[in-house]
Amino acid sequence: MAGLCDSFQRGISYLRISVTDRCNLRCVYCMPPEGIPLVSHDDILSFEEILLVVRASVEMGIDKIRITGGEPLVRTGVADLIHMISSVKGVKDISMTTNGTMLARYAEDLVHAGLHRINISLDTLKHDRFKQITRTGELSDTLKGIEAARKAGLNPVKINMVPMQGINDDEIVDFARMTLAAGWHVRFIELMPLNRTAEFVPSQVLRKKIEALGMLEPFHGIAGNGAARYFRLPGATGTIGFISPVSEPFCQDCNRLRLSATGMLFPCLFSDNGVDIKTPVRNNADLEAVKQLVTAAIAAKPQNHRFVAGAAEKTKMSKIGG
Ligand code: SAM
Ligand code: SF4
Repeated sequence: MAGLCDSFQRGISYLRISVTDRCNLRCVYCMPPEGIPLVSHDDILSFEEILLVVRASVEMGIDKIRITGGEPLVRTGVADLIHMISSVKGVKDISMTTNGTMLARYAEDLVHAGLHRINISLDTLKHDRFKQITRTGELSDTLKGIEAARKAGLNPVKINMVPMQGINDDEIVDFARMTLAAGWHVRFIELMPLNRTAEFVPSQVLRKKIEALGMLEPFHGIAGNGAARYFRLPGATGTIGFISPVSEPFCQDCNRLRLSATGMLFPCLFSDNGVDIKTPVRNNADLEAVKQLVTAAIAAKPQNHRFVAGAAEKTKMSKIGG
């Protein structure tokens, strides 16, 4: 295979960058009620340090960048970072994953800075339930954020919904209906067992529920990074995607690396072992040295993530360091 490859011959083209560990919400499946212990600002990569990792990765063949968190929009000046990244020659796609609560304020700035598309997390269409799931949020803020993103020209705007048994799985058809009524692009993501919040709902079960509205037809015309399988209901302008990391893991096609806010480069979204980028960069590592660190992270990509049934991370290197 041409381009940047790992030791299992998978092409690596996508870098997911967490710009902060902080969040204004406390979703039950993601954070404890009190939040996570806060990391000091000094321990978080600066925009210039992130840019160095982006430049090194892009020179090596990565061309898609996603900005995420925590909640990326709580980091001051994130539009400036997007502008910096969009100026790097070779970056073809810049996207963001956000809870949408602050998007009404920032959507236009993000578009002017060079953001192409956005994923907005929304697990319920009910006000009370939104408060239960996020512990602190207001549904109306995220709904306003979705409208602002569409109006600002972000395309596509995808809605990420995590179905949980007994919590919000009675809303699957309501979300699917939004692809007909409002042209939403809805993606159902299987709950990863990071804590014992609830049981996940397999994508096959979701499909059966949704087909009460009509047969799902495969759809291939939506920009993405390969993790979702897309479909459309008859007559819908929006689409329905399934991301099935538990029931049908897509590790064999995994194309990504993850940079944490504290400067660890992880070979898998769910790896505990990563390459320390921050220490060398703060000791004046240059672009070539950072490329070596990116190479080390790619060499350590496991064959499967740790939630694949019966499969511990199989790596060609057991432990990697800075
Ligand atoms: N705060 C932003 C947001 O909520 O979109 C970005 C970070 S959040 C960690 C990124 C995505 O991960 C969200 O779509 C969220 O629903 C999803 N997520 C978090 N914990 C998850 C879990 N245990 N299983 C599946 N998805 C999860
Ligand atoms: Fe986690 Fe995102 Fe929810 Fe914040 S908004 S708690 S980062 S899923």
